[in-house]
Amino acid sequence: MPFHVSVDEFERIAAAALDTIPESLRARLDDDNLLITIQSAATESDREEDIDEHVLGFYEGGDDFPKRIVLLQRHIERWCSTHAELVDQVTDTVLHEVAHYFGMDHNDIGETRLRH
Ligand SMILES: [Zn+2]
Repeated sequence: MPFHVSVDEFERIAAAALDTIPESLRARLDDDNLLITIQSAATESDREEDIDEHVLGFYEGGDDFPKRIVLLQRHIERWCSTHAELVDQVTDTVLHEVAHYFGMDHNDIGETRLRH
């Protein structure tokens, strides 16, 4: 049973997840203006990039665009049935994508319960 929250609440949870990152690392994210964008679900063009309903979020680090983490709210909510689970899942997703921002690949990150 998906656990739904408002976009505002989802944003608040994502911001709190960023606050769990140590100060020294967070300063680098801030300097770089790393954005977190919340999208309700994958778009048509995301799907062309193999971003399907199993993907909870992704990191875009191209030179031509602002670096950003995209969180797919409905996809994350699908796996959660309580507020606490939602907080855990959003936090894991944010930290996973921040690891990509710092150049880690999935071997570095290791096995997690999250895809992508
Ligand atoms: Zn990943």
